[in-house]
Amino acid sequence: MTVGPDGPILLQDHYLIEQMANFNRERIPERQPHAKGGGAFGTFEVTDDVSAYTKAAVFQPGAKSDTLVRFSSVAGERGSPDTWRDPRGFAVKLYTSEGNLDIVGNNVPIFFIRDPLKFQHFIRSQKRRLANNLRDNDMQWDFWTLVPESAHMLSWLMGDRGIPRTWRNMNGYSSHTYSWVNAAGEIFWVKYHWKTDQGIDFLPQAEADELAGKDGDYHQRDLYNAIERGDHPSWSLKMQIMPFEEAKTYRFNPFDLTKVWPHRDYPLIDVGTLTLNRNVADYHTEMEQAAFEPNNTVSGTGLSPDKMLLARGFSYADAHRARLGVNYKQIPVNSPKVEVNSYSKDGGMRIRNASDPVYAPNSYGGPKADPSRTAESLWYSDGEMVRQAYTLRKDDDDFRQANTMVREVLNDEQRARLVSNVSGHLLGGVSEPILLRAFEYWKNIDKEIGDRIEQAVRSAAPTH
Ligand code: NDP
Repeated sequence: MTVGPDGPILLQDHYLIEQMANFNRERIPERQPHAKGGGAFGTFEVTDDVSAYTKAAVFQPGAKSDTLVRFSSVAGERGSPDTWRDPRGFAVKLYTSEGNLDIVGNNVPIFFIRDPLKFQHFIRSQKRRLANNLRDNDMQWDFWTLVPESAHMLSWLMGDRGIPRTWRNMNGYSSHTYSWVNAAGEIFWVKYHWKTDQGIDFLPQAEADELAGKDGDYHQRDLYNAIERGDHPSWSLKMQIMPFEEAKTYRFNPFDLTKVWPHRDYPLIDVGTLTLNRNVADYHTEMEQAAFEPNNTVSGTGLSPDKMLLARGFSYADAHRARLGVNYKQIPVNSPKVEVNSYSKDGGMRIRNASDPVYAPNSYGGPKADPSRTAESLWYSDGEMVRQAYTLRKDDDDFRQANTMVREVLNDEQRARLVSNVSGHLLGGVSEPILLRAFEYWKNIDKEIGDRIEQAVRSAAPTH
């Protein structure tokens, strides 16, 4: 609305003003790690009987639950190429008949660190430097080689599975140990494994690099198109289950996130199938504002003494409050599909109507906690207050499982690609003495692999 077609704009043109104002506010903060991602809705159906281990309705034979899954890369930003080498987030939200259960995992069964005090530093080492705003391999290897608990994860990340061909061709893992409780009140320690039914497939480094230039959204496009054409990807849920008492004497700490539980000790137990069959209709409301958190548990499921998991319990909810606002659970994609009773009150964007009384306990019929669902004591602990992530047990060290991975799981071709991936990464800007430390690090994992990496780096022309 202007004063004549050639004149100035009037302030009462609220239509123009609102349009400009809205546009200026379209972006919300991106997630700190896991900024780039996508996913879909689906169904989780229980095909086997694990009722001996959990009373959760979602895991009873024949149960079906609506599901939301988000896949993501970790270090990049919202526009980063999908095919960079990185772990992939594999976050599952099960809209169960008892509320939401979130299993917020990755496509790898372990992690770089076991101590949450190191997490923010680790992520910063993967992101950008202060002065030049560039990602920096030197910074990454500086951190990794000073934190040898990262060795198992690195032996995984630098192998084939560090760049999945598609999101459909990768497994998901809770990585953490969680707990299950059965109807008799017995507690079990559990790990969730989502095994791809499409088969594992990966991108060789050169192909991934090319795709990063050609189609930065390669994984997002693949998933969306597959679901649109009716080719619905699925994953089989399998569990590792450890009786409560065994955790105390197991040969390494079963809550240490840098270790797997070997299958020969805890074989996979079939549970059910997750199928993704519906694309989101609105990426912003259903994916960008989706909020997953390990705190979302249902009766019969719970956390464990894994220190990384317990830190995530605070950190994820807090990240959502910072990014989406304190009432993020009222955003439809995050809301349980069952009645919610809560004494949380007001705050920005509270949209669900509540009613008196606003306090508890009360004598006016307000909601009450159901002790049968909330009184479970999942574990107990005592001791001095210390700053320490676990005590070492008989088979606890940083390199043993990494060695098993490169020596017993990988074949010759996979080992050759590992050597090439690591040496290529080291040649991308890593300086002395970090380079020397990196060779030692790999020799600690496996002497022969370390020698081959050193030789490959030393014989290549310097690139910087
Ligand atoms: P198993 O031989 O029973 O299991 C080996 C596991 O390695 C399988 O789950 C397999 O997954 C996976 N695997 C195969 N190739 C690769 C690869 N290139 N990169 C990453 N993972 C791969 O042995 P253990 O259970 O004793 O574990 C031995 C080692 O295997 C561990 O130290 C760990 O590094 C790795 N691993 C173990 C897992 C576990 O939960 N126990 C899970 C994943 C890896 P698939 O069946 O899908 O091919």
